[in-house]
Amino acid sequence: MRGVTHNMAASYYNRRTKTSRDAARLKLILTKQCVITAIRISPAIVVHLKRGSNFNRSLTMYSLPILFGVFIASLAVASPETDIPSQQEFLIANDESLSPAHFGYTGVKGPIGWAGLSPNNALCSTGSWQSPINLNASIGPPAVNPKVRIPDGYGDFENLGTTVEVPAVGQTYFGGKLYQLQQFHFHTPSEHRINEEYFPLEIHLVHQASGECHGSRLVLAAVFEITTNGATTQLVSTLARQIHKIAVPGSKTRVYGLRGGEIISVFQNYRLYQYYGSLTTPPCSEGIIWLVAQAPLPLDVGSYLAFKRVLKFNSRYTQNTPGLENLIKVAASQLPK
Ligand SMILES: [Zn+2]
Repeated sequence: MRGVTHNMAASYYNRRTKTSRDAARLKLILTKQCVITAIRISPAIVVHLKRGSNFNRSLTMYSLPILFGVFIASLAVASPETDIPSQQEFLIANDESLSPAHFGYTGVKGPIGWAGLSPNNALCSTGSWQSPINLNASIGPPAVNPKVRIPDGYGDFENLGTTVEVPAVGQTYFGGKLYQLQQFHFHTPSEHRINEEYFPLEIHLVHQASGECHGSRLVLAAVFEITTNGATTQLVSTLARQIHKIAVPGSKTRVYGLRGGEIISVFQNYRLYQYYGSLTTPPCSEGIIWLVAQAPLPLDVGSYLAFKRVLKFNSRYTQNTPGLENLIKVAASQLPK
């Protein structure tokens, strides 16, 4: 793959990839609308038939094929999206705007109880390759850094209740595979730790390649550290200035002038950790390639406070070393009999 460049049209930022879940909803809505319309119109059609005027007969003759055509078209419009079912899992994990948040970070809805919220979340308490983890010298770097392309521009900044997110368009070429960026979102405090140290903020750029196989999903992650001289990144400070507008879960605002150059540079040019892990939110699906920047990005105090006031706390606890038994399983086995 060649020609991975950084600048593209601004509107690309806002071209959200439609998902199979969106498609299913669209299909349902269109089908429902079609049926409702048919039910509403049918008595009128019967009346028209009984009255028997030429105009009404011709109306009936035309309306029935049109209704049938709309019904078929509604199915045809919705169906192509089912070609990408793998994206649905990402939305369940990351896009809570489509339904009320079904998980949280406190009490029984919190990380300890995620597996109990749905049978789909079993890996949260049984998986041996769970994220986040403590990153140290035992976690090696990738053979070659990724090539990352994210166009500058504008995007919708959404409060999903469990994170704040910008649906985005971009591409990352890594390990011989091309991954499509779907969205990026934030956690406070950081989910990953580096040599046991936590950080105030972490960004996750969630990618999907075609196919369902192991390694078809990639997350680029970086932690942020507070600076004493006010240094920060343009992307985070721009979002921080607008984040008060989405303080309420379910709200969103359009943010202009987003530039990811500083963050992209870290992934392309600096040392990374690479490991196989999981989504850090339900359903905790495994087989995710994680690339985490070894050095933290700069974060000014004002931006940090603005993010924290809205995000509050959305960090899963540190999981066991990759390949070792899930900590919840270990803890359960140690309960007094
Ligand atoms: Zn995340």
